[in-house]
Amino acid sequence: GANRTKNVLILMSDTGGGHRASAEAIRDAFRIEFGDEYNIIVKDVWKEYTGWPLNNMESQYKFMVKHVQLWKVAFHSTSPRWIHSLYLAAVAAFYAKQVEAGLMEYKPDIIISVHPLMQHIPVWVLKWQGLQKKVIFVTVITDLSTCHPTWFHPGVNRCYCPSNEVSKKAIEEGLNESQIRVYGLPIRPSFARAVFSKDDLRAELEMDPALPAVLLMGGGEGMGPVKKTAKALGDTLFDKDVERPIGQLVIICGRNKSLAESLEALEWKIPVKVRGFETQMQKWMGACDCIITKAGPGTIAEALIRGLPIILNDYIPGQEKGNVPYVVNNGAGIFTRDHKETARIVAEWFSTRTDELRRMSENARKLAQPEAVFDIAKDIHELARQRGPLADIPYELTSSFSSLI
Ligand code: UDP
Repeated sequence: GANRTKNVLILMSDTGGGHRASAEAIRDAFRIEFGDEYNIIVKDVWKEYTGWPLNNMESQYKFMVKHVQLWKVAFHSTSPRWIHSLYLAAVAAFYAKQVEAGLMEYKPDIIISVHPLMQHIPVWVLKWQGLQKKVIFVTVITDLSTCHPTWFHPGVNRCYCPSNEVSKKAIEEGLNESQIRVYGLPIRPSFARAVFSKDDLRAELEMDPALPAVLLMGGGEGMGPVKKTAKALGDTLFDKDVERPIGQLVIICGRNKSLAESLEALEWKIPVKVRGFETQMQKWMGACDCIITKAGPGTIAEALIRGLPIILNDYIPGQEKGNVPYVVNNGAGIFTRDHKETARIVAEWFSTRTDELRRMSENARKLAQPEAVFDIAKDIHELARQRGPLADIPYELTSSFSSLI
């Protein structure tokens, strides 16, 4: 019937922390805006339904980003369209049946992809199933600037670009203006909507109520020079003359358990909190005064909303490189790979250069786009509305995609 709950399938993959965070952001925004009108399903479809290499993307990705040169080669060598098309066509031929089964099981009215490799195969499946006119397919790009061409597929209903730079690239890759919207990166509504005072957060998180605080992290996997930087901060944030700390440190290691263990084993002269994967990042960011991180788009966008000046200490070659000038040229932070310099800058921000910290915090807030995720959800809702009362989608009537190959 016309008023039945519509199924929204969000395709993501647990590589890093960014794709999951974006998927959850969109899900939460739909719930806040439209309640029961939509039934949102977040799925790592590849992991559940396909074989190697797609179900193994997570560990391959972890392996590659740890071996940065390999990742560089992979990112740039798969950029020419003919290479990735051939690769994806081969993969599609192999795994179409399983992907199809995945899509069919959830009977989506709307498919949202937040992953660079989840355009081609699902769009093909919809096409062969004769469902392209019935099912809405949109891409939400989660890289801020230098993004991989597999993000762009001319067969989508909408391509949500986080920045004008990305939308230019979308045009170059053959999308029409009418398919593109630029609202910003989707960030979990808990960052935009539930705002607590710093004092309350510090009490809740058992932090020192008065000392300025720096948050140190490295994305969902706890990557980059976290340990070296932590040790250096342990020195610079301790004033030897008066034998007192001038700041406190929060280290969020994400899924990197060995990092968390080795940091917990150290002795500290300043107040330090070492944490694993945190689900309430908005609280930790709200309790701190600045952040040190690799140039992950999710972490950057969240820090901007909380008005945290950012020290970028690393980036994943390829998709994260362009995030560095975005932060630095807009006066919201600094880039340095030198852990001693990082620690020195934080100590200065907390003592002699508090004015710079304040200025960068203001610049960060100016760049923030906390409403982007709501704009995206509303636009998708509008697309669904324009399609009129959705007929029940005949998922099981058509022939199988895999039989066409
Ligand atoms: N994150 C989290 N808990 C953690 C560590 C990270 O929720 O313990 C989130 C973080 O808030 C951000 C995302 O994971 O939303 C990391 O995304 P980013 O794009 O910065 O880097 P990635 O991990 O995808 O490389």
